[in-house]
Amino acid sequence: MSTPSCRWKTLADFAARLLAWWECHGRHDLPWQIDRTPYRVWLSEIMLQQTQVGTVVPYFQRFTDCFPSLSDLARADLDEVMALWSGLGYYARARNLHAAARICAEQHKGCLPKTTEELQALPGIGESTANAIIAQAHDRRAPILDGNVKRVMARHAAIAGWPGKTAVQRQLWQESESRTPPDRARDYTQAIMDLGATLCRRRKPDCANCPVASDCQALALNLVDQLPESRKPKPRPRRSTRLAVLQDEQRRIMLERRPPSGIWGGLWSLPELPHGDNRVQGQPLLSIEHHFTHFILDIHPVLVHASESSNISDNGDTEWLSVSEALSRGIPRPIRQIIEGVLALED
Ligand code: SF4
Repeated sequence: MSTPSCRWKTLADFAARLLAWWECHGRHDLPWQIDRTPYRVWLSEIMLQQTQVGTVVPYFQRFTDCFPSLSDLARADLDEVMALWSGLGYYARARNLHAAARICAEQHKGCLPKTTEELQALPGIGESTANAIIAQAHDRRAPILDGNVKRVMARHAAIAGWPGKTAVQRQLWQESESRTPPDRARDYTQAIMDLGATLCRRRKPDCANCPVASDCQALALNLVDQLPESRKPKPRPRRSTRLAVLQDEQRRIMLERRPPSGIWGGLWSLPELPHGDNRVQGQPLLSIEHHFTHFILDIHPVLVHASESSNISDNGDTEWLSVSEALSRGIPRPIRQIIEGVLALED
């Protein structure tokens, strides 16, 4: 590990190495870099949230052809704005953009404000976006921490923990702050974003060509693939259910259609036995563990002869079907497994 003074030296040098790389390998001809008004920078920053440069460019061009200035956007109908955004996804961005343009028209004389605080007060602009606008539109020093920069910081400084956590985020801001040089704010901001997007990619980063590899802590500690850490999945709760494979004398089984909403909405399933009601015993079949996104369901099927219980389901939407007919219906995977199990019992 570096001593504090030598670490300071290498960090001071970080921007110089990054800028030298960017001059040769960075992106210099993106449409918002050409006529760099605050409005165009803002629009590009919002479009680039969650979306890659290649996708954004044609949208940016169409959007600025229709609304060349912030006042044009403020005067537009939301429907027109949404139509131009269509296909880019995350539509709250477009609604916020339009609302923010109207606020600027009413409260800031048709211009974007020039401080982080005032920018952050507008809908859809967080601290990093506000600073990116300040650095790129006004060439003033303002550290940023977008998704790409988070990744570079987490790796270069080997910061453990999920970046969504407040404490981790605070550390990442400090790392970004300490690397941001006093001048060339516009170029440095583009350079650090380009490094994250083109070399320090989420998968298979190109460390061999990275201008800041010599003091990258993740590279030195062989942690590149582990950083930044992902969110730890929460343990999923477990639920359990008893399902009846109700069979009549012709070996048909009863399926019932699930209600349109909720799990397996609208699919055919087996009737569920009420919790705690042990009146229907039947023959236990193999239990199944099924994983939903938010919980795990333990399914305990029981084979019940229709003569033993004729009133299992009070759902009007039921049908008696041969096993092969049942298998041809729209049924969830675990239900298919249970019915196939019944078929195997009969062989
Ligand atoms: S050396 Fe690799 S992991 Fe480290 S900053 Fe460069 S590209 Fe990212």
